Amino acid sequence: MRFYWLITFYLTVVLLVVLTGNANLVIISLLTLIFLSIIVWGVSVMKLNLFIRSISNIETDKNEIAITFDDGPSPEYTPQILDILGQYNAKATFFCIGNKLADNKEIVERIIAEGHSIGNHTFEHLPSFPGWSVKRIRESIQKTDAVLLELGIEPGTMFRPPYGITNNLIAAAVRSENKTCIGWSIRTKDTCRKPEQVIDLVKKNVKPGSIILLHDTNKYVCEELEEILKYCKDHHLNSIALS
Ligand SMILES: [Zn+2]
Repeated sequence: MRFYWLITFYLTVVLLVVLTGNANLVIISLLTLIFLSIIVWGVSVMKLNLFIRSISNIETDKNEIAITFDDGPSPEYTPQILDILGQYNAKATFFCIGNKLADNKEIVERIIAEGHSIGNHTFEHLPSFPGWSVKRIRESIQKTDAVLLELGIEPGTMFRPPYGITNNLIAAAVRSENKTCIGWSIRTKDTCRKPEQVIDLVKKNVKPGSIILLHDTNKYVCEELEEILKYCKDHHLNSIALS
């Protein structure tokens, strides 16, 4: 695992600096700063695979992309999203929050019935998630899977960590639950950008194999999705459901 290689490399370099008699506070501080910067970068950018291997692109030799929606299901927007996907004959993946599933049973059933797929996005999706213990992360994944099973849906292996954050504990929990971390290649930041910016970003970057991140809680998501699907249709890019 890259994380352990990084720690080993850091400690070896520090030891060599000390053993060669070059140890001084400036050099050690500089090395520590570089080490910590790489760790912070690795925590926030899943595709660096510092803690666990994640999937950020689909491996395909066809004109396929994957549109993904996080943080639903949402009674306000998910049904409209499904309508639009249906109009374009496009499939998508919904990374659902466990505690929203039971209250939106009909939407969940529709997602599956219309050929889309569902991934696990924790049960609670709390900001404190990066600080959770392995046990708590595992329980959150298990609770979400249990609700899916109650709804008659096979949970599968796809897991997307909230905020795209990974660390050593999240990696351990994901491995223990036999899940695969699913990231993205296009992070639209749709929850804080204007729709035109989101659409423009996707148009500039989308290509075969892209995984696009959107949120079905964003009030502009339908407008954005429609424009993205129009562009993809014009460029013969077909959105598929991940599995
Ligand atoms: Zn999320």
